[in-house]
Amino acid sequence: MNAKSERAARDEVSAWIALGANLGDAAATLKSAIAAIARLPLSRMVRASSLYRSAPLDASGPDFINAVVEISTGLTAPDLLDALQTIEAAAGRQRAYRNAPRTLDLDLLLYGDARIESERLCVPHPRMAQRAFVLLPLAQIAPQQVDAALLQQVAHQVIERLPS
Ligand code: AMP
Repeated sequence: MNAKSERAARDEVSAWIALGANLGDAAATLKSAIAAIARLPLSRMVRASSLYRSAPLDASGPDFINAVVEISTGLTAPDLLDALQTIEAAAGRQRAYRNAPRTLDLDLLLYGDARIESERLCVPHPRMAQRAFVLLPLAQIAPQQVDAALLQQVAHQVIERLPS
């Protein structure tokens, strides 16, 4: 390994991102979003979960399609959030009102073991532990990140893993 690639390897962080959509062709939206995340600068896709279908939780509209991906990235957490919001905007997300149906929602769940509480970014994502649509796909690709007790607590939420 030369000095440059050593530095790159040292600076890369594993980040987990949750994807959700419940308008239009949500499965197609998620697949393009996963492809867009894989193209982010200084980043590479490590693994992507299956797609899941979940009933809306504190939200209205049709069922959601969800997934979680892991990337390895040299982007800072704020730069990664900017890039995710650009992908959301490109998918035509409209924020009509809180928890309104959305074309695409991207949440930064974990950024290495960083704990961030700024005005625009909270990591680990504050609500991830209560959501089966985050915990199940995350447990599929990163079982070490999900406590079995948390999975138990969300076992009543309606969610189905879709065949790949
Ligand atoms: P929502 O409409 O629920 O997707 O929330 C989006 C807002 O949450 C944005 O304004 C972000 O700045 C903020 N936010 C705080 N923490 C996070 C996070 N970990 N991932 C994504 N958005 C976040």
